[in-house]
Amino acid sequence: MSRRQTKAQTVVIIGMGDTGVLVAARLSRHFNVIGISTKPNLVSGQEVGKRLADLSWWNRYYNTPLRRFKALVGVEIRHAKAERVDLVNKRVAVVDKSNSETLIDFDFLVIASGTSNGFWRDDNLRSEAQIDGRLKRDAAAIRDANTLAIIGGGPCGVSCALNIRRAYPEKIVSLYISADLPLRGYHEEARKYYQRELTATGVKIFSGHRAVTEDPKPNKGTILFESGQSYVADTVIWCVGNRKPHTKFLPNGLLDDEGFVKTKNTLEVVGSDCLFAIGDVASTDPARSSARNWAYGILVHNIKRKAAGKPPNKYYNPPANRWGSIVGPQDDGLTLHQDSGKTTRLSRWVVDKLLLPTVVQRVIYRGVDRLRG
Ligand SMILES: Cc1cc2nc3c(=O)[nH]c(=O)nc-3n(C[C@H](O)[C@H](O)[C@H](O)COP(=O)(O)OP(=O)(O)OC[C@H]3O[C@@H](n4cnc5c(N)ncnc54)[C@H](O)[C@@H]3O)c2cc1C
Repeated sequence: MSRRQTKAQTVVIIGMGDTGVLVAARLSRHFNVIGISTKPNLVSGQEVGKRLADLSWWNRYYNTPLRRFKALVGVEIRHAKAERVDLVNKRVAVVDKSNSETLIDFDFLVIASGTSNGFWRDDNLRSEAQIDGRLKRDAAAIRDANTLAIIGGGPCGVSCALNIRRAYPEKIVSLYISADLPLRGYHEEARKYYQRELTATGVKIFSGHRAVTEDPKPNKGTILFESGQSYVADTVIWCVGNRKPHTKFLPNGLLDDEGFVKTKNTLEVVGSDCLFAIGDVASTDPARSSARNWAYGILVHNIKRKAAGKPPNKYYNPPANRWGSIVGPQDDGLTLHQDSGKTTRLSRWVVDKLLLPTVVQRVIYRGVDRLRG
């Protein structure tokens, strides 16, 4: 099938976050692409610790108005929230900020709507000014606190604890984890590495502490633990991994017991012949890891095959352990943890001059106009 023929077909993408943008950027030469997003910016879920500790640096690479992505020039962006999907008529109902509903027809639909995660990711409709205001308030809650408690020893908790304590060595930063070591699901070597790094940086680690209260915002508060102990901090950051998929707009039959989209290894949605899913919302594997690991290339390839009347023939194969960067770039560079437990260190120069501007912005995102900062 020629490009002209596929151009007559419409792909609608719900969610223009980390994965929706990558997919849209690669499909727009072949299809008529419409991206629906509750945010007019790509507000990345990556590097939450840097976002709290060094907002101006984070904004430069991780908060990008969608109009600045060069490869999205041909993509129609609708600042709206998907409310319903009609599979029979192949139509999505979206509601914009004035509360008007519009119906959008599709030939293929990509679900990339992500999950809510702690205070830093949600599916609310927000303007650019509201996004900026929220980011500044969160960063101020860290700057103005003397004592900070971070609950949860996953990558978000570790990233918050290490980055905040490094940015503000005068503050008391406590990390409460339920296991003995942080970073369950990572290779043992990575877990030990961060136990040492956190301790050397002056983070107080409280292992075997499982909290029983939860407030999603980074607020002053008392934390109660299952042991009966409690602790009061000027700012409490909840990183307990209680992710909620953004899938209310989909029929229940497409969802697993936890509400994530049932997704095949071709990234097609189980039970439909025109839906694909990717990223945190896609139940591809227990870690729902398709936002990482180059899965967008598989989705783009398979959707093009399907549009040409051929069966998808590329398969997503998730790694056994989680890998990658955990705390983002530090003064001495970026440490990448591999699936095998090995680490690779990239110097700060390589990260600032090559990795982020060239590899990420130019090659992976295919060009971004006027970075912030
Ligand atoms: C190096 C690295 C570091 C990372 N660090 C972190 C970290 O520190 N913290 C963390 O939490 N994750 C982290 N991650 C994970 C990463 O942020 C997520 O895996 C990624 O953001 C998921 O992308 P996504 O496209 O699935 O969802 P998202 O990027 O969350 O995008 C979903 C988009 O859909 C929109 N949306 C939701 N519902 C609707 C709807 N109904 N209609 C229209 N739009 C909707 C949302 O507003 C959002 O814009 C990291 C990943 C990497 C690779």
